[in-house]
Amino acid sequence: MLQIKNLHKSYPIGDSSLHVLKGIDLSVTDGEMVAIMGSSGSGKSTLLNIIGMLDEADSGEYVLDDVPIKNLTEKKAAIYRNKFLGFIFQSFNLINYKNALENVALPLYYQGLKRKERQEKALFHLEKVGLKEWAHHLPNELSGGQKQRVAIARALAANPKLLLADEPTGALDTKTSYEIMAFIQHLNDEGKTILMVTHEEDIANMCKRIVRLKDGVIMEDTKVDQVRAEQYV
Ligand code: ATP
Ligand code: MG
Repeated sequence: MLQIKNLHKSYPIGDSSLHVLKGIDLSVTDGEMVAIMGSSGSGKSTLLNIIGMLDEADSGEYVLDDVPIKNLTEKKAAIYRNKFLGFIFQSFNLINYKNALENVALPLYYQGLKRKERQEKALFHLEKVGLKEWAHHLPNELSGGQKQRVAIARALAANPKLLLADEPTGALDTKTSYEIMAFIQHLNDEGKTILMVTHEEDIANMCKRIVRLKDGVIMEDTKVDQVRAEQYV
């Protein structure tokens, strides 16, 4: 699915710079479910954003689905991103003036689908996350867990190969977190490759592999026995 070699990233801070990623090596194969952990400021979001092609590394190699990313033009990169990647964020990032259905239908617009097709597909994905009845409600009429399920439906609408999630349970209470994790595990059972950032050990243990960042490098990379989330729901 993806290979990263000797990846570096710094941010300019005044006259100097902050070296955040100092040589990351990481490979993820199809069907994996990986948690990225590390203390606040360790570069988890930076790494996820580079993997998600929302940001660029300063140096190093990144190959996604056999394609070296730095060879892509900006236009090709955007097409590639829409085709291969789905995103979920801690703060849901839904568009507040669009209802659930319209939010889910949005990525399909960029795929060039006709309105009717977009709506049908969006409704199918909302049904998958159990929110068909809420299709015409605005985000502020939904609970946190419901909002995250809309965001998951939106991330899945274009059928991405890789789902990237930055603290997807970070804004949710424990029970709702486990509901969302049960859903994400179910997606992984169906074959979706998942890479998620979390700072909670119990959430990380619901993945199949944990990668820990420290001082700009991966200091630990271990397979874990996946704890099933549905038992807590
Ligand atoms: P958290 O757990 O708090 O979300 P994180 O591990 O996701 O932290 P990052 O957001 O990747 O950490 O940030 C890593 C470091 O880089 C931090 O010190 C942060 O302040 C800095 N940083 C992140 N983005 C930028 C930016 N655009 N410009 C300057 N510095 C940045
Ligand atoms: Mg972060």
